[in-house]
Amino acid sequence: MPTLKYRRILLKLSGESLMGDQGFGIDSNMLSHYAHQIQELLGLGVQVAVVIGGGNIYRGLQAAESGIERVQGDYMGMMATVINGMALQSALEGLGVYTRLISAIEMKQIAEPYIRRRATRHLEKGRVVIFSAGTGSPYFTTDSAAALRANEINADVILKGTRVDGIYSADPEKDPTATKFDNLTFAKVISLGLSVMDMTAFTLCRENNLPIIVFDIGRPENLKRIVQGDAIGTLVEG
Ligand code: UDP
Repeated sequence: MPTLKYRRILLKLSGESLMGDQGFGIDSNMLSHYAHQIQELLGLGVQVAVVIGGGNIYRGLQAAESGIERVQGDYMGMMATVINGMALQSALEGLGVYTRLISAIEMKQIAEPYIRRRATRHLEKGRVVIFSAGTGSPYFTTDSAAALRANEINADVILKGTRVDGIYSADPEKDPTATKFDNLTFAKVISLGLSVMDMTAFTLCRENNLPIIVFDIGRPENLKRIVQGDAIGTLVEG
């Protein structure tokens, strides 16, 4: 077995990362890509929890534009994360990986309710735990759910998979002069006004000293290399 820097990880996958180039919904190629990478981590002996977003289907903030009340819209967004979670669960099971889908909103027929000790037991047994329905409360995001659950299950790190290979001084998709950071402290992120996660999520990680790595999830080897200690993406800690 290779030496591991991170033994228990919380992987945050945004809803958008599931849609590929489609602009909406779930791209089966993307699902299969993530499922294979997660399977590889299990092979290394890493315990994997996933928090899945819903932005590829619905965001609460869209609600206002369509005349739907904000809180109702947020619940719709949480439902969207359950749909994504079910899709990821299917893709993993298709590879023979044992999984448990957990929902922060009770939906007994399709997902387990969230019970912390049970979730950590699944991880110890090598099952991939997929946390869906965010925190179960409106006005939050799935980044906050990731920060909350990662702290609760004592994850070693939050791995935030994105389309870019780390945190930049400006948006690299818009500004060609943007430069990438390899390491940042929590204080530096704030003093430079960088955006890593929303403030609620970021504060939760900062207060509990939980490292965050922002990395390019599109590159097949990245997850594996990160858990083995390679400097991939941007590490925020301390
Ligand atoms: N949401 C919520 N509470 C939570 C998590 C999510 O109300 O704890 C709602 C919110 O409306 C959000 C939507 O679900 O816009 C989808 O989640 P998010 O935008 O975080 O997904 P991502 O950007 O990761 O795809």
